[in-house]
Formats: sequence, structure tokens, C-alpha cells
Amino acid sequence: MRLKIVPLGTSAGRPTLLRGASALAVATEGAWVMCDCGEGAQLAALRAGLGLSRLDAVLITHLHGDHFNGLPGLLGTLGLEGRERPLLVAGPPGITALLQHLAHAGSLGTGDMEVRVFEQQGNGGEVRIDGSQFLVESRPLAHRVPTYGFRVALPDRPGSLDVAKSDAAGVPRGPLLAELKAGRAVTLEGGRVVEPHGLIGPPQRGPSMAYALDTVPCPSAVELGRGVDALVHEATYEHARSALAHDRGHSTGVEAARIAAEAEAGSLILTHFSPSVSGEEVAEEAQAIHPRIVAAHDLGEIQV
Ligand SMILES: [Zn+2]
Repeated sequence: MRLKIVPLGTSAGRPTLLRGASALAVATEGAWVMCDCGEGAQLAALRAGLGLSRLDAVLITHLHGDHFNGLPGLLGTLGLEGRERPLLVAGPPGITALLQHLAHAGSLGTGDMEVRVFEQQGNGGEVRIDGSQFLVESRPLAHRVPTYGFRVALPDRPGSLDVAKSDAAGVPRGPLLAELKAGRAVTLEGGRVVEPHGLIGPPQRGPSMAYALDTVPCPSAVELGRGVDALVHEATYEHARSALAHDRGHSTGVEAARIAAEAEAGSLILTHFSPSVSGEEVAEEAQAIHPRIVAAHDLGEIQV
């Protein structure tokens, strides 16, 4: 199983003709989660071919409008579609009250769908999505309002079976091999028991990504991105405007690259570009710091 990252909106603050407000899909076969839900996110998801019925959760980093304003619309659409499966919405403190206000004002129209809201607190931690294969964790970032980044992964897979070794151990080809592959001992005709240990390679790590925006460069972005295959980090400004970036609670592409290098992330995906910068130029000036950097563009899929 692999992860596919689809940026749904890559602009900071407001949408432009080329870039929507912040949102990003993390998808695997048959399911996906959305990180942030800026205005226009559901439309971008439709354009990307992501079925809304397969959405397992929405993970909101913070309550600034460019990361949140698409959520009421998305919830309304799911309600109109008659979704019965509960939807998890994870977000910062205050998101429950905000959604309750909108619901009481009649702004959500979620119908029979249960919206399970999970507020992040303190140092964050596991975000459990019932019935989902995604493993999600959160960590607090450093922005102007309470903000949490997310790490999304798929479970590790069992190691592969060394058939030469199972042959040598006398295990016949057939269903018993599947048992060994699943990590269970098998009993051969004659009663001899063969343990899987020694016949199975080490488990294969599930693919992982982290989503760190909005934030100034901070240690918990490093923690979040530690060893992930892809770190998505905000890069609101070019490095010449780092003072402005910090003043507004943001990072530059160069700083995001330093975070990715320290975290030993496999690749770095820059996003959340101010309408006043070129994403490609922001990525370009960070190339010397991390070997694999891409500037996200809306609906530009990235395989992990
Ligand atoms: Zn933002």
C-alpha cells in the first residue's frame, strides 16, 4: 500500500487564480484524509477524483479562515449525500464550539451524519479514526493561534517469506505458506511444528507523511517529520523576508528545508505560498539544504 499526496490548495491567506486556500489530501486505496479544509477544498477534491464518500477524516491545523472556511461547505455536501458513516474532524481547541455555533445557526446541514469532533490538547498525540487504516498523530506547532500539525501513516507490513528457507524447512507450497507469512506457526503432516521466525524478513515500514503548517520553524515540526517519507511544510515567503515571516508566524522555504534535513525526511513538499512569491523560486533557493524538494501545485499528485 502506498500513499498519494494531492495538494488541493497551496496558497497562503487567500485563494488566487492558480492556487486555492490550504487543503491537502492523503490517499491510499479506497480511503483518504484531508489536511486542512480551506475555501474550495471540496471542489478541488472532486477535480482530483477523490470520492467524498471515502473520506475518513478532516484534520484541521488551526482556525484561521484560509485553513477552515471550506469545512462547513464540505460537511453540508456530505449531509446532502446522505452519508451515514460518522466523520472524524480533528482540530485545535475551540473547533467544537465553533462547529456547534454553526450547527445551531443552521449553517451545516449534516443531516443524519454524525460529526465526531476531536480537539487536540497539550502536546497532542494519537488521533484515532475508527475503522480507518490511517494512523494519525498530532503535535503542537508555533503559530499565532493554537495550531497542531499531523503525521499520517499506514501500518507496517509483515516481512516477506523466504521461500527457499521454507522449502528447506520442509513446508510444502500452498496454504501453509500463507500462515507463515501471517506470522503464525504451522504444523506439518507428522506433527512437526515450524515457527515463522527465521523464515520471514523484517517488517516493512508503512509509508508516512507529516503536515506542518502554519508555523515558524520549531522543534515539534522536526519531531513530526522525523523519518517520514514526505514532509509537507509551509513556506510562506522567500528567505529575504524571514523577519516578516516570523512576525506573522510563518517560515521560509530555506527554513522548511532545514527542518526537513534535521528530521531526515525523505522528501520535502513546500506549500502555503504567499500570493507575492513564486513557489518554484522559494523551492529553488532551498535546494542546497535538502536534496529532494518540490514546490506543491494544486492537484499535482505526489506518490510516497
Ligand atoms: Zn495559513
